[in-house]
Amino acid sequence: MEILKIQNLSKIYGTGETAVRALDDVSFSVEKGEFVAIIGPSGSGKSTLLHILGGVDRPTSGKVYVDGTDIYQMNETGLAVFRRRQIGLIYQFYNLIPVLNVEENITLPLLLDERKVDKQHMHSLLQSLGLQGRLKHLPNQLSGGQQQRVSIGRALINNPAIILADEPTGNLDSKNSAEIISLLKMFNKRFNQTLMIITHDERIALQADRIISIEDGKIAKDEVIRR
Ligand code: ADP
Ligand code: ADP
Repeated sequence: MEILKIQNLSKIYGTGETAVRALDDVSFSVEKGEFVAIIGPSGSGKSTLLHILGGVDRPTSGKVYVDGTDIYQMNETGLAVFRRRQIGLIYQFYNLIPVLNVEENITLPLLLDERKVDKQHMHSLLQSLGLQGRLKHLPNQLSGGQQQRVSIGRALINNPAIILADEPTGNLDSKNSAEIISLLKMFNKRFNQTLMIITHDERIALQADRIISIEDGKIAKDEVIRR
């Protein structure tokens, strides 16, 4: 089943002399449960692509369909709700809220929608992430690997269909990187959540089902990994 379909996506930042074409007529589809690595040089448009797929940044032209819905046809409120329920975003520098503790950071997407916390789900999520003893800690009381696990918790609390991670291990040592990737792969396989990761690490890219290479805002290569 196709979960994501991108048609003729272009993104231009700015206008006139200083305009930058970050994405240039990109089209592809992703199957439910697929694990896709996105690679390419710095400045090639990878983050722009991920943000547009995640409903964070409007394209200049083109369409993004998530589970058949044309997401940029929605108004801002609809798009915000879609984002919180269907998309889990993970960043290189975690983007946790420093004054909120682990539990509050993870449950924030629920609170914004005035939804109740499902204690059972919260508990099993914390267990999977190895954060049981850390509920009341603030982000600056945690190691980098732990902070990234909190941000994964926040991304997954709503059981999103799609997880989008922008260099999730870019700030971590190799041991913590491996841990984060194996967690993301575990959720991808166990819950059939679609996983897209931007990475510069070839060892990570080679674990994906498929590698999409972006160069100059275009797809330079799109290959299925055979094992
Ligand atoms: P990557 O993630 O591959 O490093 P980006 O998507 O961040 O690439 O950037 C693609 C191009 O768009 C770059 O030339 C970058 O400078 C430009 N760009 C990205 N974000 C903005 C922005 N908010 N305003 C203007 N230019 C931007
Ligand atoms: P790691 O073994 O992942 O590198 P650290 O050595 O940074 O982790 O931290 C070990 C433990 O100490 C962690 O479980 C973390 O919760 C705790 N810790 C780390 N930094 C602080 C801090 N500034 N304040 C309180 N606890 C901390």
